[in-house]
Order: sequence, then C-alpha cells, then structure tokens
Amino acid sequence: MTACKCPRCRTGHMFRYPTYDIIHFSKAYDNCPHCHLKYEHETGFFWGAMYISYSFSSGLMIVFGVLAINNDWTFMNILITIIGMALLFTPFFFRYARVIMMYGISPNRKFDPKYL
Ligand SMILES: [Zn+2]
Repeated sequence: MTACKCPRCRTGHMFRYPTYDIIHFSKAYDNCPHCHLKYEHETGFFWGAMYISYSFSSGLMIVFGVLAINNDWTFMNILITIIGMALLFTPFFFRYARVIMMYGISPNRKFDPKYL
C-alpha cells in the first residue's frame, strides 16, 4: 500500500508521477497499466477520499494545536506552521486517501495472484 500500487495485481502504479512532483502529483491512471483494472469503477468514487484526506488534515492540525498550546507559541507561529504543514502534506494526504479508498473501501478490489 505504501507504494500506491494497484490493489488487484500490486504491480501497476496508480499515479503517473512521484509524490514530490508538486505540479503533477495528482495525475492518476484511469486503468492499471499492468492488469487494466479500472480504478474509478463508478462516477464520483473518489469523492469519498476527500473525507479521508480531511481526517488526515484534521489529525495534523490537532497534533500541531497540542504542540502549540504546550509550547506557548504565538498565534502567527501557529498559523504559519499549520498552513505550511498542510501544504507540505497535501500530496501525501491526497494520494493515500485514494489508496485507502481503493484498498479498504472498494468492493471486489482484492489481491489476485493470477494478475501478477
Ligand atoms: Zn493492476
């Protein structure tokens, strides 16, 4: 799951570009390049990933909020840190929210060794 591979063959990539490519990090394949599994099996399937990404962002803000309260940060330091971290982690949150949708929530997306 960490490499954003296809849930069925675990060989084909889900995304066209690496995570650190900040311009193209969200470009994904429509189908698996290896086994041709259609990733978005129904229209709007990945809208659910938005809620997962939201929970990631909320968790990050809670962690930094607790750090800020315990260390007596100024309001500007809190604001700059939270915005900076949210922007820094956006590619990870976007991609791994989709991966969780594909692996954990999507039906009939189990590993099948015959597609290796
Ligand atoms: Zn595949």
